[in-house]
Amino acid sequence: MGKPIPYGRQHITAADIRAVVGVLQSDWLTQGPNIERFEQAVAAYCGVKHAVAACNATAALHLACMALDLGPGDWLWTSPNTFVASANCSLYCGAQVDFVDIDPKTYNLSVELLARKLEQAKIAGKLPKVVAPVDFSGQSCDMREIARLAEQYGFRIIEDASHAIGADYLGGKVGNCRYADITIFSFHPVKIITTGEGGMALTNDVELQRKLARLRTHGITRDPKLMSAGANEGAWYYEQIDLGYNYRMTDLQAALGLSQLTRVDEFVQRRRKLAARYTKALRNLPVKTPWQNGEGESAWHLYVINVDPERTGKTRREVFDFMRESGILVNVHYIPVHLQPYYRRMEFGPGDFPASEAYYQGAMSLPLYFDLTEEKQDYVIAKLTEALS
Ligand SMILES: *Cc1c(COP(=O)(O)O)cnc(C)c1O
Repeated sequence: MGKPIPYGRQHITAADIRAVVGVLQSDWLTQGPNIERFEQAVAAYCGVKHAVAACNATAALHLACMALDLGPGDWLWTSPNTFVASANCSLYCGAQVDFVDIDPKTYNLSVELLARKLEQAKIAGKLPKVVAPVDFSGQSCDMREIARLAEQYGFRIIEDASHAIGADYLGGKVGNCRYADITIFSFHPVKIITTGEGGMALTNDVELQRKLARLRTHGITRDPKLMSAGANEGAWYYEQIDLGYNYRMTDLQAALGLSQLTRVDEFVQRRRKLAARYTKALRNLPVKTPWQNGEGESAWHLYVINVDPERTGKTRREVFDFMRESGILVNVHYIPVHLQPYYRRMEFGPGDFPASEAYYQGAMSLPLYFDLTEEKQDYVIAKLTEALS
Protein backbone atom coordinates (compact mmCIF):
# COMPACT_ATOMS: atom_id res chain seq x y z
CA MET A 1 0.00 0.00 0.00
CA GLY A 2 2.97 2.37 0.20
CA LYS A 3 3.54 5.10 2.72
CA PRO A 4 0.60 6.44 4.71
CA ILE A 5 -0.91 9.68 3.44
CA PRO A 6 -0.47 12.40 6.10
CA TYR A 7 -3.06 15.12 6.69
CA GLY A 8 -0.46 17.78 6.03
CA ARG A 9 3.20 18.08 5.21
CA GLN A 10 5.86 20.51 4.04
CA HIS A 11 7.13 20.98 0.50
CA ILE A 12 10.92 21.41 0.34
CA THR A 13 12.83 22.19 -2.86
CA ALA A 14 16.50 22.22 -3.81
CA ALA A 15 16.34 26.04 -3.57
CA ASP A 16 15.10 25.79 0.04
CA ILE A 17 18.01 23.48 0.87
CA ARG A 18 20.54 25.77 -0.84
CA ALA A 19 19.18 28.72 1.14
CA VAL A 20 19.70 26.93 4.46
CA VAL A 21 23.13 25.59 3.50
CA GLY A 22 24.10 29.10 2.45
CA VAL A 23 23.44 30.33 5.97
CA LEU A 24 25.45 27.45 7.46
CA GLN A 25 28.39 28.60 5.35
CA SER A 26 27.95 32.24 6.39
CA ASP A 27 29.03 34.19 9.48
CA TRP A 28 25.62 34.34 11.11
CA LEU A 29 23.60 31.38 12.28
CA THR A 30 21.21 33.50 14.30
CA GLN A 31 20.34 37.20 14.29
CA GLY A 32 21.80 37.47 10.80
CA PRO A 33 20.57 39.37 7.76
CA ASN A 34 17.89 36.85 6.79
CA ILE A 35 15.69 37.61 9.79
CA GLU A 36 15.04 41.18 8.71
CA ARG A 37 14.76 40.16 5.06
CA PHE A 38 12.16 37.55 5.94
CA GLU A 39 10.26 40.00 8.14
CA GLN A 40 10.22 42.62 5.39
CA ALA A 41 9.23 40.12 2.73
CA VAL A 42 6.26 38.82 4.75
CA ALA A 43 5.22 42.38 5.62
CA ALA A 44 5.37 43.40 1.94
CA TYR A 45 3.44 40.30 0.89
CA CYS A 46 0.65 41.00 3.40
CA GLY A 47 0.59 44.77 2.99
CA VAL A 48 1.44 45.49 6.62
CA LYS A 49 4.05 47.91 7.98
CA HIS A 50 5.95 45.77 10.47
CA ALA A 51 6.73 42.13 11.17
CA VAL A 52 8.60 40.49 14.04
CA ALA A 53 9.81 36.92 13.55
CA ALA A 54 9.77 34.54 16.51
CA CYS A 55 10.87 30.97 17.25
CA ASN A 56 7.27 29.74 16.86
CA ALA A 57 3.72 31.10 16.77
CA THR A 58 3.13 30.23 20.41
CA ALA A 59 5.99 32.56 21.37
CA ALA A 60 4.65 35.19 18.95
CA LEU A 61 1.22 34.97 20.64
CA HIS A 62 2.88 35.38 24.04
CA LEU A 63 4.83 38.40 22.77
CA ALA A 64 1.62 39.88 21.37
CA CYS A 65 -0.14 39.52 24.73
CA MET A 66 2.79 41.14 26.52
CA ALA A 67 3.02 43.96 23.98
CA LEU A 68 -0.66 44.73 24.64
CA ASP A 69 0.07 44.77 28.41
CA LEU A 70 -2.13 41.81 29.20
CA GLY A 71 -1.63 40.93 32.84
CA PRO A 72 -3.22 39.87 36.13
CA GLY A 73 -6.85 40.94 36.36
CA ASP A 74 -7.22 41.06 32.55
CA TRP A 75 -9.17 38.74 30.29
CA LEU A 76 -8.45 37.36 26.86
CA TRP A 77 -11.30 35.79 24.92
CA THR A 78 -10.75 33.34 22.12
CA SER A 79 -12.46 30.52 20.27
CA PRO A 80 -12.73 27.08 21.86
CA ASN A 81 -12.13 25.58 18.39
CA THR A 82 -8.41 26.19 18.24
CA PHE A 83 -5.04 24.87 19.21
CA VAL A 84 -4.39 25.33 22.94
CA ALA A 85 -1.73 27.98 22.27
CA SER A 86 -4.35 30.62 21.36
CA ALA A 87 -5.62 30.47 24.95
CA ASN A 88 -2.44 29.58 26.83
CA CYS A 89 -0.72 32.83 25.77
CA SER A 90 -3.02 34.74 28.11
CA LEU A 91 -2.26 32.49 31.06
CA TYR A 92 1.49 32.97 30.49
CA CYS A 93 0.87 36.64 31.31
CA GLY A 94 -1.07 35.88 34.48
CA ALA A 95 -4.30 36.97 32.79
CA GLN A 96 -7.44 34.89 32.48
CA VAL A 97 -9.11 33.18 29.54
CA ASP A 98 -12.70 32.92 28.45
CA PHE A 99 -14.19 31.64 25.22
CA VAL A 100 -16.77 32.70 22.66
CA ASP A 101 -18.52 29.80 20.97
CA ILE A 102 -18.27 29.20 17.23
CA ASP A 103 -20.53 29.88 14.32
CA PRO A 104 -21.67 26.40 13.23
CA LYS A 105 -21.21 27.40 9.59
CA THR A 106 -17.66 28.78 9.51
CA TYR A 107 -16.41 27.11 12.73
CA ASN A 108 -14.90 30.52 13.53
CA LEU A 109 -15.74 32.53 16.64
CA SER A 110 -19.33 33.76 16.27
CA VAL A 111 -19.62 37.54 16.12
CA GLU A 112 -23.26 37.40 17.25
CA LEU A 113 -22.24 35.53 20.39
CA LEU A 114 -19.29 37.86 20.85
CA ALA A 115 -21.58 40.90 20.71
CA ARG A 116 -23.96 39.32 23.23
CA LYS A 117 -21.17 38.30 25.60
CA LEU A 118 -19.64 41.79 25.44
CA GLU A 119 -22.95 43.35 26.34
CA GLN A 120 -23.21 41.13 29.41
CA ALA A 121 -19.54 41.62 30.31
CA LYS A 122 -19.98 45.36 30.22
CA ILE A 123 -22.81 45.19 32.74
CA ALA A 124 -20.75 42.86 34.93
CA GLY A 125 -17.68 45.11 34.60
CA LYS A 126 -15.61 42.26 33.14
CA LEU A 127 -14.85 43.35 29.58
CA PRO A 128 -11.89 41.59 27.93
CA LYS A 129 -8.68 43.47 27.27
CA VAL A 130 -7.93 41.30 24.24
CA VAL A 131 -10.03 39.22 21.89
CA ALA A 132 -8.07 36.67 19.86
CA PRO A 133 -10.15 35.38 16.95
CA VAL A 134 -8.68 32.40 15.06
CA ASP A 135 -8.92 32.13 11.28
CA PHE A 136 -9.86 28.49 11.47
CA SER A 137 -8.70 26.26 8.60
CA GLY A 138 -7.44 29.36 6.78
CA GLN A 139 -10.72 31.23 6.37
CA SER A 140 -10.73 34.74 7.84
CA CYS A 141 -13.07 35.50 10.72
CA ASP A 142 -15.54 38.35 10.32
CA MET A 143 -12.71 40.69 11.29
CA ARG A 144 -14.48 43.84 10.15
CA GLU A 145 -17.31 43.27 12.61
CA ILE A 146 -14.92 42.23 15.38
CA ALA A 147 -12.98 45.48 14.82
CA ARG A 148 -16.23 47.43 15.05
CA LEU A 149 -16.98 45.79 18.38
CA ALA A 150 -13.41 46.52 19.52
CA GLU A 151 -14.04 50.19 18.84
CA GLN A 152 -17.33 50.06 20.73
CA TYR A 153 -16.07 48.16 23.78
CA GLY A 154 -12.41 49.18 23.85
CA PHE A 155 -10.64 45.85 23.55
CA ARG A 156 -7.56 45.02 21.45
CA ILE A 157 -7.37 42.34 18.76
CA ILE A 158 -4.79 39.60 18.27
CA GLU A 159 -5.78 37.72 15.12
CA ASP A 160 -4.43 34.18 15.32
CA ALA A 161 -3.89 33.59 11.60
CA SER A 162 -1.63 30.58 12.13
CA HIS A 163 -3.66 28.79 9.42
CA ALA A 164 -4.08 31.68 7.08
CA ILE A 165 -0.97 33.15 5.43
CA GLY A 166 -1.93 33.59 1.77
CA ALA A 167 -5.66 33.91 2.48
CA ASP A 168 -7.65 36.86 1.15
CA TYR A 169 -10.23 38.89 3.04
CA LEU A 170 -12.29 41.84 1.77
CA GLY A 171 -9.88 42.65 -1.00
CA GLY A 172 -6.69 42.44 1.11
CA LYS A 173 -4.35 39.77 2.41
CA VAL A 174 -4.86 38.25 5.83
CA GLY A 175 -2.02 39.75 7.87
CA ASN A 176 -2.53 43.34 6.67
CA CYS A 177 -3.80 44.19 10.18
CA ARG A 178 -6.57 46.36 8.83
CA TYR A 179 -8.83 44.92 11.51
CA ALA A 180 -6.29 43.72 14.09
CA ASP A 181 -3.69 45.25 16.38
CA ILE A 182 -1.42 42.25 15.87
CA THR A 183 -1.75 39.25 13.54
CA ILE A 184 0.12 35.99 14.11
CA PHE A 185 1.37 33.42 11.60
CA SER A 186 2.78 29.96 12.28
CA PHE A 187 5.44 28.33 10.12
CA HIS A 188 5.15 24.84 11.60
CA PRO A 189 5.65 22.21 8.85
CA VAL A 190 1.94 21.37 8.55
CA LYS A 191 1.02 25.02 7.99
CA ILE A 192 1.06 26.85 4.63
CA ILE A 193 4.79 27.73 4.54
CA THR A 194 7.40 26.45 6.95
CA THR A 195 10.60 27.37 8.75
CA GLY A 196 10.68 24.12 10.77
CA GLU A 197 9.59 25.88 13.93
CA GLY A 198 8.69 29.51 13.45
CA GLY A 199 6.14 32.26 13.81
CA MET A 200 5.62 35.94 13.18
CA ALA A 201 3.74 38.87 14.67
CA LEU A 202 2.56 41.59 12.26
CA THR A 203 1.38 45.07 13.10
CA ASN A 204 0.93 48.54 11.64
CA ASP A 205 1.82 50.17 14.97
CA VAL A 206 5.51 51.01 15.26
CA GLU A 207 5.32 51.18 19.07
CA LEU A 208 3.95 47.64 19.19
CA GLN A 209 6.64 46.51 16.77
CA ARG A 210 9.36 47.93 19.04
CA LYS A 211 7.87 46.24 22.09
CA LEU A 212 7.49 42.93 20.30
CA ALA A 213 11.10 43.05 19.12
CA ARG A 214 12.42 44.05 22.55
CA LEU A 215 10.47 41.38 24.41
CA ARG A 216 11.71 38.79 21.90
CA THR A 217 15.26 39.53 23.11
CA HIS A 218 15.05 39.58 26.92
CA GLY A 219 13.54 43.07 27.13
CA ILE A 220 16.93 44.53 26.19
CA THR A 221 17.35 47.81 24.32
CA ARG A 222 20.24 49.75 22.81
CA ASP A 223 18.05 52.72 21.97
CA PRO A 224 19.54 55.75 23.80
CA LYS A 225 16.09 57.32 24.05
CA LEU A 226 14.92 54.38 26.18
CA MET A 227 18.02 53.91 28.33
CA SER A 228 18.37 55.59 31.70
CA ALA A 229 22.13 56.11 31.23
CA GLY A 230 21.91 57.31 27.65
CA ALA A 231 24.44 56.44 24.96
CA ASN A 232 27.59 57.76 26.64
CA GLU A 233 28.43 54.60 28.54
CA GLY A 234 30.18 53.01 25.57
CA ALA A 235 29.54 50.84 22.54
CA TRP A 236 29.08 47.68 24.62
CA TYR A 237 26.31 49.17 26.68
CA TYR A 238 22.70 47.98 26.71
CA GLU A 239 19.90 48.04 29.24
CA GLN A 240 17.22 45.56 30.12
CA ILE A 241 14.08 47.61 30.60
CA ASP A 242 11.39 44.89 30.56
CA LEU A 243 11.26 41.21 31.44
CA GLY A 244 11.53 39.58 28.00
CA TYR A 245 12.46 36.17 26.69
CA ASN A 246 14.72 34.58 24.11
CA TYR A 247 12.08 33.99 21.45
CA ARG A 248 14.31 34.64 18.43
CA MET A 249 14.17 32.82 15.15
CA THR A 250 17.49 31.59 13.75
CA ASP A 251 18.90 32.87 10.48
CA LEU A 252 18.71 29.29 9.14
CA GLN A 253 14.96 29.31 9.66
CA ALA A 254 14.52 32.77 8.22
CA ALA A 255 16.42 31.76 5.05
CA LEU A 256 14.12 28.77 4.67
CA GLY A 257 11.11 31.00 5.25
CA LEU A 258 12.26 33.51 2.62
CA SER A 259 12.69 30.75 0.10
CA GLN A 260 9.30 29.23 0.99
CA LEU A 261 7.59 32.61 0.78
CA THR A 262 8.41 32.88 -2.92
CA ARG A 263 6.01 29.94 -3.42
CA VAL A 264 3.22 30.91 -1.00
CA ASP A 265 0.74 31.76 -3.76
CA GLU A 266 1.58 28.53 -5.56
CA PHE A 267 0.99 26.60 -2.32
CA VAL A 268 -2.34 28.29 -1.68
CA GLN A 269 -3.52 27.89 -5.29
CA ARG A 270 -2.80 24.18 -5.13
CA ARG A 271 -4.63 23.86 -1.80
CA ARG A 272 -7.63 25.74 -3.19
CA LYS A 273 -7.71 23.47 -6.20
CA LEU A 274 -7.55 20.31 -4.08
CA ALA A 275 -10.21 21.66 -1.70
CA ALA A 276 -12.55 22.39 -4.61
CA ARG A 277 -11.89 18.89 -5.88
CA TYR A 278 -12.87 17.38 -2.50
CA THR A 279 -16.00 19.49 -2.31
CA LYS A 280 -17.08 18.41 -5.77
CA ALA A 281 -16.32 14.75 -5.18
CA LEU A 282 -18.02 14.65 -1.76
CA ARG A 283 -21.18 16.53 -2.72
CA ASN A 284 -23.31 13.41 -2.87
CA LEU A 285 -21.94 11.84 0.29
CA PRO A 286 -23.81 12.23 3.59
CA VAL A 287 -21.14 14.48 5.12
CA LYS A 288 -20.92 18.21 5.67
CA THR A 289 -18.21 19.90 3.62
CA PRO A 290 -16.64 23.24 4.58
CA TRP A 291 -18.81 26.33 4.09
CA GLN A 292 -17.19 29.45 2.67
CA ASN A 293 -18.46 32.89 3.63
CA GLY A 294 -17.64 34.62 0.33
CA GLU A 295 -15.83 37.53 2.04
CA GLY A 296 -12.51 36.35 0.70
CA GLU A 297 -10.75 33.14 -0.06
CA SER A 298 -9.36 30.64 2.42
CA ALA A 299 -5.73 29.54 2.44
CA TRP A 300 -7.07 26.02 3.12
CA HIS A 301 -4.72 24.90 5.86
CA LEU A 302 -7.34 22.26 6.67
CA TYR A 303 -10.14 20.55 4.82
CA VAL A 304 -12.59 19.51 7.53
CA ILE A 305 -15.64 17.34 6.96
CA ASN A 306 -18.28 16.67 9.55
CA VAL A 307 -19.67 13.18 10.06
CA ASP A 308 -23.20 13.06 11.42
CA PRO A 309 -24.11 9.55 12.63
CA GLU A 310 -27.82 10.37 12.11
CA ARG A 311 -27.14 10.76 8.40
CA THR A 312 -24.48 8.10 7.91
CA GLY A 313 -25.28 5.39 10.42
CA LYS A 314 -21.55 5.54 11.21
CA THR A 315 -19.84 7.34 14.02
CA ARG A 316 -16.90 9.64 13.39
CA ARG A 317 -14.78 7.17 15.32
CA GLU A 318 -15.72 4.36 12.95
CA VAL A 319 -15.02 6.45 9.87
CA PHE A 320 -11.77 7.77 11.38
CA ASP A 321 -10.51 4.30 12.30
CA PHE A 322 -11.40 2.95 8.86
CA MET A 323 -9.44 5.76 7.18
CA ARG A 324 -6.42 5.24 9.45
CA GLU A 325 -6.50 1.50 8.74
CA SER A 326 -6.52 2.38 5.04
CA GLY A 327 -3.25 4.28 5.44
CA ILE A 328 -4.85 7.72 5.48
CA LEU A 329 -3.73 9.78 8.46
CA VAL A 330 -6.91 11.79 8.95
CA ASN A 331 -6.89 13.98 12.03
CA VAL A 332 -9.25 15.96 14.26
CA HIS A 333 -9.07 19.74 14.70
CA TYR A 334 -9.85 20.61 17.42
CA ILE A 335 -10.74 19.13 20.75
CA PRO A 336 -12.44 22.19 22.29
CA VAL A 337 -9.81 23.89 24.45
CA HIS A 338 -12.21 24.38 27.37
CA LEU A 339 -12.58 20.58 27.65
CA GLN A 340 -8.86 20.01 28.20
CA PRO A 341 -8.22 18.81 31.77
CA TYR A 342 -6.09 21.87 32.50
CA TYR A 343 -8.97 24.16 31.56
CA ARG A 344 -11.57 22.05 33.36
CA ARG A 345 -9.65 22.84 36.51
CA MET A 346 -10.62 26.47 35.86
CA GLU A 347 -14.32 25.64 36.10
CA PHE A 348 -14.87 25.06 32.38
CA GLY A 349 -16.73 21.93 31.41
CA PRO A 350 -19.02 20.13 28.97
CA GLY A 351 -21.99 22.20 27.86
CA ASP A 352 -20.21 25.55 28.17
CA PHE A 353 -19.74 26.02 24.43
CA PRO A 354 -22.24 23.70 22.75
CA ALA A 355 -21.54 24.63 19.12
CA SER A 356 -17.84 23.82 19.49
CA GLU A 357 -18.66 20.61 21.28
CA ALA A 358 -21.21 19.52 18.64
CA TYR A 359 -18.76 20.39 15.86
CA TYR A 360 -16.02 18.38 17.59
CA GLN A 361 -18.20 15.27 17.72
CA GLY A 362 -18.15 14.93 13.93
CA ALA A 363 -15.04 16.79 12.76
CA MET A 364 -12.41 15.08 10.65
CA SER A 365 -9.57 16.68 8.67
CA LEU A 366 -8.77 15.05 5.34
CA PRO A 367 -5.26 15.09 3.85
CA LEU A 368 -4.48 18.43 2.21
CA TYR A 369 -1.01 19.59 1.22
CA PHE A 370 0.91 20.85 -1.79
CA ASP A 371 2.31 17.46 -2.84
CA LEU A 372 -0.96 15.56 -2.50
CA THR A 373 -1.46 14.07 -5.98
CA GLU A 374 -4.89 13.79 -7.54
CA GLU A 375 -4.34 10.04 -7.58
CA LYS A 376 -3.80 9.98 -3.83
CA GLN A 377 -6.72 12.33 -3.30
CA ASP A 378 -8.92 9.99 -5.33
CA TYR A 379 -7.83 7.16 -3.05
CA VAL A 380 -8.85 9.25 -0.01
CA ILE A 381 -12.22 9.99 -1.63
CA ALA A 382 -12.77 6.32 -2.52
CA LYS A 383 -11.95 5.16 0.99
CA LEU A 384 -14.19 7.80 2.52
CA THR A 385 -17.02 6.76 0.23
CA GLU A 386 -16.45 3.15 1.32
CA ALA A 387 -16.36 4.13 4.97
CA LEU A 388 -19.67 5.95 4.72
CA SER A 389 -21.52 3.32 2.71
C1 LIG B 1 -0.16 25.87 14.91
C2 LIG B 1 -0.96 26.81 15.70
C3 LIG B 1 -0.43 27.58 16.74
C4 LIG B 1 0.94 27.37 17.27
O1 LIG B 1 1.91 27.42 16.32
P1 LIG B 1 3.40 27.01 16.65
O2 LIG B 1 4.19 27.68 15.57
O3 LIG B 1 3.45 25.51 16.56
O4 LIG B 1 3.75 27.49 18.01
C5 LIG B 1 -1.23 28.52 17.35
N1 LIG B 1 -2.50 28.69 16.98
C6 LIG B 1 -3.06 27.96 16.01
C7 LIG B 1 -4.48 28.20 15.62
C8 LIG B 1 -2.32 26.98 15.35
O5 LIG B 1 -2.88 26.23 14.41
